[in-house]
Amino acid sequence: MSSKQKNGVRYDRVEVNSRTYPWPTSPVVVICVDGSEPAYHERAIADGRMPFLEQMLERGSDLRADCVMPSFTNPNNLSIATGVPPAVHGICGNYFYDADADAEVMMNDPELLRAPTLFSEFSARGASVTVITAKDKLRRLLGRGLKGICFSAEKSDQLTVEDHGIDKVLERVGMDLPSVYSAELSELVLAAGVDVLERDRPELMYLSLTDYIQHKHAPGSKTANDFYAMMDGYLAQLDALGAVVVVTADHGMNAKSAADGSPQVIFLQTVLDGLTAGPLGTSTSRVVLPITDPYTVHHGALGSYATLHLPKGTDVDGVAAELRTLDGIEEVIGREDACRRFELPADRIGELVVIAERNTALGTSPDRHDVSGFTEPLRSHGGLTEQRVPFLVNRKITELPAGHRLRNFDAYWVATALASGQQPPN
Ligand code: ZN
Ligand code: ZN
Repeated sequence: MSSKQKNGVRYDRVEVNSRTYPWPTSPVVVICVDGSEPAYHERAIADGRMPFLEQMLERGSDLRADCVMPSFTNPNNLSIATGVPPAVHGICGNYFYDADADAEVMMNDPELLRAPTLFSEFSARGASVTVITAKDKLRRLLGRGLKGICFSAEKSDQLTVEDHGIDKVLERVGMDLPSVYSAELSELVLAAGVDVLERDRPELMYLSLTDYIQHKHAPGSKTANDFYAMMDGYLAQLDALGAVVVVTADHGMNAKSAADGSPQVIFLQTVLDGLTAGPLGTSTSRVVLPITDPYTVHHGALGSYATLHLPKGTDVDGVAAELRTLDGIEEVIGREDACRRFELPADRIGELVVIAERNTALGTSPDRHDVSGFTEPLRSHGGLTEQRVPFLVNRKITELPAGHRLRNFDAYWVATALASGQQPPN
C-alpha cells in the first residue's frame, strides 16, 4: 500500500465523512460528464465515434449508477466531491428558500457546504489535488479548503498561481477563451486536465463538464456524437498517462416537450395560487425550482423537480392530493418522506416535493420562464427519470459489496481502491 508522509505523519488512507479512501499509488481522475444520459455514449459507440471508450469498456467496467435527487448539477457535484448525499453536505439545488429569513439563497456560497470535500481532506494531508470545472458557479464550492489547482474554464483567462494554483492555461493548451454556452468550454476542461496530469501527476483530479450540448441535442444526433468523439480522444490520453479514470455524470437528460416541439410544462405557481387561495389555504405559497441559476439560456429554469413552501394553516395533504391528479406529475411527497427517500436536508426543502414524469417539466408561472431563446425543443432533468447515469471505469471491478447500490458519489471510493491495487472494500 502506498502512503504519504507529511509533518512526520504517514497516511495510507484518508477518512472523509465516515468513509475510508486508500491513498492512491497512481493518479485518480473522475470526470463528471454533465447531463450524460447513458444513451449518449452508447449511441456514440454504436456509431463508431468512441473507439477508445469501446475498448476501454471491454477491458474495464461498464456500469450504471444512481445519482442523487434532485437530479441537478450542484447536489450531484458536491455528492461526488464529498462521497455523501445532500442530507450530509447540505447542497440540494442551485438555491433554496430560507423561510426564517424569507429569502431565496443561492447555494454557490462555500459557507453553505456542511461537509468537507475529499479534495480539501486529501490536500491537507499532502496530496496533490486538481479540480477543473466548466462553469465558475461550482468552482468555489468544490474548492473550499483545497490547497492545489482549482479553476473554471469560464474564467480561465483570469488565473493566478496565488488564487488558482496555476496560470496561463489557455496558452498551455493552445485554445482561445470559449463561450460559456459552447462545447469548447468542456473541451478546455479536458485539455487542461490532460496537461496538468502530464506535468504534475496529482493524486486526485476532478474534471466537471457542462451539459450545454445535452440540453440541446439528443443522443445519436450529429452534434452530440461530435461532442462524445471529442471526449473520446481525451479519455484515451488520460488512460495512456496511467490514471485510473472513472467517467460518470451528475444526472441524465430527457426531452420535456410536446409532439409539436413546444415545452411541456406544468406551471405550479399558477396551480397553487388557485388552490391555496381557496378552501385549502388562505395566503400565498412559494414554488422553488432549484434548477434556477444565472445560466438559463439552455433550459429556461425548467426541470422536473420542485419543492413547495406552503403557508401555515394550509391543508398540505389536500394540496398534495390535488397535485397528484394533474397529468404529467409522477410523485408528490411530504417533507419527511422526501428526506428519508432522497437523503435531503429537511431545513432546505419545503413541505412538499413534486417530481414530474419523464417528458414533463415544472415551472412557476408562464411569465417567469423565458423560452423565447429556445432554438431546439426543451430537454432537461431534475426527476427520477434522469437518475440513471454511466459509471465507466478503465479498470476491472471484480467485486462490489453484496447488495451495494452503486451511486455516482462512489466514484472516488471505487477509484482510490483500484488505484491502490485493491477492490472497493466490503
Ligand atoms: Zn448538470
Ligand atoms: Zn442542466
